Amino acid sequence: MSATERPRVLILGGGFAGVGAAQKLKDADAEVVLVDRHDYHTFQPLLYQLATGLLDTTAVGHSLRDLLERHGRATIHQASVTAVDLDAREVAFEGLAPISYDYLVFGLGAEVNFFGTEGAAEHAFPMYTLPHAVRLKDHLLQLWEAADRDSSLVADGALNVVVVGGGPTGVETAGAIAELYRGDLAKDYRNVAEEDARITLVEAGPELFPMFKPKLREYADKALTDRGVEVKTGTAVASVDPTRVELKSGERLKAHTLVWGAGLQGNPLVQSLGLELQRGNRIGVGPDLTLPGHPEVYVVGDVAAITDSKTGEVLPQLGSVALQSGEHAGETIAARIAGKETKPFAYKDKGTMATIGRGAAVVQFLRGRTMTGAKAQAAWGVVHLALLPTNEDRAKAVVDWAGAAFTHQRVGRITVEAD
Ligand SMILES: Cc1cc2nc3c(=O)[nH]c(=O)nc-3n(C[C@H](O)[C@H](O)[C@H](O)COP(=O)(O)OP(=O)(O)OC[C@H]3O[C@@H](n4cnc5c(N)ncnc54)[C@H](O)[C@@H]3O)c2cc1C
Repeated sequence: MSATERPRVLILGGGFAGVGAAQKLKDADAEVVLVDRHDYHTFQPLLYQLATGLLDTTAVGHSLRDLLERHGRATIHQASVTAVDLDAREVAFEGLAPISYDYLVFGLGAEVNFFGTEGAAEHAFPMYTLPHAVRLKDHLLQLWEAADRDSSLVADGALNVVVVGGGPTGVETAGAIAELYRGDLAKDYRNVAEEDARITLVEAGPELFPMFKPKLREYADKALTDRGVEVKTGTAVASVDPTRVELKSGERLKAHTLVWGAGLQGNPLVQSLGLELQRGNRIGVGPDLTLPGHPEVYVVGDVAAITDSKTGEVLPQLGSVALQSGEHAGETIAARIAGKETKPFAYKDKGTMATIGRGAAVVQFLRGRTMTGAKAQAAWGVVHLALLPTNEDRAKAVVDWAGAAFTHQRVGRITVEAD
């Protein structure tokens, strides 16, 4: 018990999973403490729009204190978790005193996996955090400025971009960069030979979007090609340096930018827990999302390997899985504190979806129905609005997204550096 004599629920991570858990504990007779290394929640599905200047930082990063403003009993700390002692039920942080818990919600998410590709950790641009998206945007804008001053840079591949990964992150990013290049930047820099800039999407598997039906894969391929993206499947990146990307096929591409959207692995902290980990360094959980042998510890979101009770498959690392699992943990802890019955986790699948560009998206529902184009993009919007925690956030997002969709203005295409 905490000093207040109420049980303490410690939530690690303010992503969809952690915030979902905190929201469901709002009325519980518990002291709730949420700790994240940032003071904001990142809406990852929109990172590519930040990276291409369509949305501003505050449309993608939301203050955690705002999100939990109405949560009277929640305390938020900004600190990095350094160690979790499951037996002592205590968590250590950098710059914050250790915190003990009665219940732990472990929602620290995943991080990029470069699969040991030579030079990737030093030179690639991953797309998983807010700083990643801002860094990529600044880098691209600086390259266009440089090419404007010295046109010989274009022939050296300064404007060429290689995007790795034929899943939603890679496809969305390649499509968005193509629209930024062929639209706004082509107009901004009339003296730069934009048509010489190559955007190449590289996927090691035989096709893009393996999780979708063949007709949606073909649609995605065509939508990318129409936007001027070259798609290379069946080959992987072997190595990368600041200006060149070498493929395993032996081809060497001139490109001063390699965007990495190809793989994830569980938060590195999981390796210190002494647990047997599942594929992608994820923690396996029971049907109620608790850690086997630790009924007080709930593992949720991207860091968890949750088996779908309907299909028997491990659920994908998606915002809706993270939110629903976090909410389930919050609801279950609240019920246990109140001495009520609890239920196992049951995922509600709202369909698999991805956007490729303006008016181009794909959706595949559980029973096999599919959608493409503007309708699919609207469905994407509805499902992703539901991921936002409050009605105020949803209203703000509608204004931001509608503004970006109608004006097509990339208001964020500025670089802000220290003088
Ligand atoms: C580019 C991109 C596009 C995506 N698009 C979609 C999409 O269209 N639809 C969809 O459903 N899903 C999408 N996803 C997946 C979705 O965003 C994730 O599944 C979801 O964010 C996972 O939520 P989470 O709470 O588990 O983890 P996260 O959102 O990663 O949150 C983890 C939190 O833990 C914090 N943290 C990590 N380590 C520490 C530490 N040591 N100390 C303190 N805090 C720490 C982080 O700061 C972070 O806030 C996308 C992901 C990416 C990267």
